[in-house]
Amino acid sequence: MPQHSTTMLVPLDTLSILAIVDNETDPMSPAPPCVKATGRLGDIALGKGRPVGDERGGGVVKEVAMEQLCCGAHGLSLMITGTCNNIPQTLLFDTGPTDSIWTANAARLASPLHNISLVHLSHWHRDHSGGMLSALHAIASAKASYSSLPASIDLVQPPTPTIVDLHPSRPSYRGFTTPLGIVSLEADPTFSEIEDAGGKVDKNAEAHEVLDSYFLISGEIPRVTPGENGIRAGLRFENGEWVSDELIADERFVVCHVKDKGLVLFTGCSHAGVVNAALHALTLTSNALPLYAIVGGYHLADAEPAHLHSTVQALKALDVKVLIAGHCTGWRAKFEIEKEMPGCLVPSFVGITTML
Ligand SMILES: [Zn+2]
Ligand SMILES: [Zn+2]
Repeated sequence: MPQHSTTMLVPLDTLSILAIVDNETDPMSPAPPCVKATGRLGDIALGKGRPVGDERGGGVVKEVAMEQLCCGAHGLSLMITGTCNNIPQTLLFDTGPTDSIWTANAARLASPLHNISLVHLSHWHRDHSGGMLSALHAIASAKASYSSLPASIDLVQPPTPTIVDLHPSRPSYRGFTTPLGIVSLEADPTFSEIEDAGGKVDKNAEAHEVLDSYFLISGEIPRVTPGENGIRAGLRFENGEWVSDELIADERFVVCHVKDKGLVLFTGCSHAGVVNAALHALTLTSNALPLYAIVGGYHLADAEPAHLHSTVQALKALDVKVLIAGHCTGWRAKFEIEKEMPGCLVPSFVGITTML
């Protein structure tokens, strides 16, 4: 894939974001006017609900099955589709915390998984990598089923195998120090497990464009703001010992350009800081475009009030129009955004498709 040297991002005509995994569920609250969204209770009932006969007195359109609603889980997985001249490209951004939640939610959403050309992992943390192997198996299975359909001039065969874009610096384990000792996370999938599950591993530490320059994946995110310092007491286990690892330097983001709007930044957990990510997205694209939207985890759930306040003020100063905040953002940050930037907040809920 081409290494990034200057802004080559294709201006996308449309962008849709399906939250396969996110922390929260709320299928009732309407989307704010700054975006279009589907996947709420009424959409599910009328779209996928079961038909009902006259035995209930007639006039019943559909029965909604509660099994069709997605479940929230601590993690993130977004299926992102951009189109340019009616040609779509789909990327899976992270895979949530567990195989079971990813598989169950993807099945409930009847996601067209065969369209996924590339899986991007934002960083090596289990709440983003835990569903990776099941996701790859499900994508491979969907592509095999699709490829076996009768040939048609409209049938564009999906690329196989699926590229899995990963930072090369995978720790054996990650963890953190507590007063009672070290807490370890579960191991992330290994490179060989990912290959065995049907993924084609592509290791990248530097910024690079993917999928015909529909998307740009960053390299390491420079830490330039005073308050965004990574995970306090963070550790990694390597070569038989635990060592300090507060920066989570393997974290990357994805950015794309939506025509007539500007940049849309996807950030997994913002250990580098959501403002640092925003500033780097602007730099990587030569400061040629405004930052229109930020999607993902802002990592402010446990932030000190002063840091939370300064972060929201910085986002306000950047004049970001749409803040699709989910995962580790936390309710206090969302409340502050809604107060300081009325009309910009779109809380990210699992099962919802947001269109920009
Ligand atoms: Zn993380
Ligand atoms: Zn996270």
